[in-house]
Amino acid sequence: MGLHEMLTPRIEIDLEKIAHNAKTLIELYGSKGIGVIGVTKAVCGNPDIANALVKSGIRTLADSRIENIRRMLNAGVQAQFLLSRTPSLSQAEAVVKYADISLNSELSVIEKLSTYAMDCDRTHSVILMVELGDLREGLMPSELEETVTRVLELSGIALVGIGANLACLAGVAPDAENMGHLSAIANDIERKFALTLEYVSGGNSANYNWLVSAIDVGRVNNVRLGESIYLGCETLFREPIPGLYTDAMTLVSEIIESKTKPSLPCGKICQNAVGNVPKFKDRGEIRRAILSTGLQDVLVPGLTPRADIEIIGASSDHIIVDAKTTELQVGWELEFDLNYGALVSAMTSLYVNKVPSDRVNAHEYCELVEQEYRRHVQLLPTIEIKEDHSPLLSLNESGFNLIFEESVKEDYKYMVREAVFEKIGRISKRLDKEDKTLIMRSTWRSFEHQRLLWEERVEALEKEYPNKQIEEIEELVSYFIAPPSKSMHATGGAVDALIYDLKNDCVMRFGTNDGLKINLNDKCYPYHPYITPEAKTNRKLLIGLFEEEGFVTDIKEYWHFDYGNAAWAIEKGRERAIYGIIEA
Ligand SMILES: *Cc1c(COP(=O)(O)O)cnc(C)c1O
Repeated sequence: MGLHEMLTPRIEIDLEKIAHNAKTLIELYGSKGIGVIGVTKAVCGNPDIANALVKSGIRTLADSRIENIRRMLNAGVQAQFLLSRTPSLSQAEAVVKYADISLNSELSVIEKLSTYAMDCDRTHSVILMVELGDLREGLMPSELEETVTRVLELSGIALVGIGANLACLAGVAPDAENMGHLSAIANDIERKFALTLEYVSGGNSANYNWLVSAIDVGRVNNVRLGESIYLGCETLFREPIPGLYTDAMTLVSEIIESKTKPSLPCGKICQNAVGNVPKFKDRGEIRRAILSTGLQDVLVPGLTPRADIEIIGASSDHIIVDAKTTELQVGWELEFDLNYGALVSAMTSLYVNKVPSDRVNAHEYCELVEQEYRRHVQLLPTIEIKEDHSPLLSLNESGFNLIFEESVKEDYKYMVREAVFEKIGRISKRLDKEDKTLIMRSTWRSFEHQRLLWEERVEALEKEYPNKQIEEIEELVSYFIAPPSKSMHATGGAVDALIYDLKNDCVMRFGTNDGLKINLNDKCYPYHPYITPEAKTNRKLLIGLFEEEGFVTDIKEYWHFDYGNAAWAIEKGRERAIYGIIEA
């Protein structure tokens, strides 16, 4: 997590809500035999969103722009890609290279696609768009037969379907009549040319009302959905679709001025920044707040405040609101719903941070961890030690299958209390069966050893940050290394461990480590949401092994486990620990 992700303006993207919407729509359309292509153009091919769609079961992603398709490909999004805007001649080569399918309405373009497809020995799939009344893209029905004939003759091109797009330009509603027409055209082509069309792609989010009222959807077996997935509404009347979230996207802006001022301007009124001559209502003196967001960030008229306030104007960098009775202070954040235009503009603006919910949650998670850590620090002195005087035993001499990380302390014996010794033995045996070995990083440490560790880390950080003051360095170190008398490692009940994977001959990846070297940052917090799925699985394995043996996992370090000592007692809700400090 970086604090920059909490900057404003930002658009917070709730990936779980988007996934829920996608799954619900897949089921709804699926119940009538219609498959869903996810359209990513409104979100500029944002890879986090694309992955959420793929995880929800969408296999084809459509975007109007090759740049966005490349963005998703570069991010490793696993899907088939469709270019939804008729390709331009000048981009034909890139279209063949990056898109698997494209929607087309010009023969000359398809011919160009064919040339490039042959050049690179590929087959590019084509869906022919048919004009059904909205008068944007599409072949006129009269030119269809000849076009199909020509397309079928082209090498490197596969005709995989026909499609239509309504409601986008003229607002023409998809209905039984025009969808019936599309079905008839599909049947006609299949019969005349003795082929099967894989896709009969009926439209976009505007097809919802037709879908729910249709008794028979005819040959239509596909739709391309964007807005209804992101904003949870159909697009003919912008009514919410039952069961969908309409608040998956949130624009967050920040107050930079809050004052009581008149509601009417003073002076002769001419044009403003955007060329309008504005009119204002006289409401007397009002509380006016200014937000650090403007037309260069988002299409302001497409915003709806979630609080009871009113947008009364905007220029390129400011939004002015009437706070009404809402308390607004400088530095506070305000949330807004976005319509489609606002969403597109905010996702496109360089100035708006795009923050997926897992990162928002990461911020919350880290705060919780730190809160919990402060609670522990306060509780530590209240824990009574009822020392059980069990001896320290050396793991080096145990004969267990273990790997020992090199220690700053010469002749380090990897000592632990007797019960811990036995637990490590059992964990070692369990890992043997999985072709893995426990790596012991550190166990009991004398005060002298702990001091060595502290000094070593200070030295390393001094080298890394030559400009930092020593106080700053020590604070950084104290974040992860305790002073000698406070370290749980002085009790013989603490164990630092990682796992070695014998099959792949490497230290397993836990999200912050490169082999044995661990980068100390907040992703070391055991359940940090923003680590890779592999790291999550590996942490689960490591933590599971220790917790099943009665250890507790450290609040901040996924590799540190405690048994019997004060940290363990706090976490287990006990009043007494059984292992106190052994100094040397
Ligand atoms: C934008 C677009 C879509 C998706 O439209 P939504 O209203 O966002 O569902 C589908 N098909 C084509 C051709 C488009 O241009």
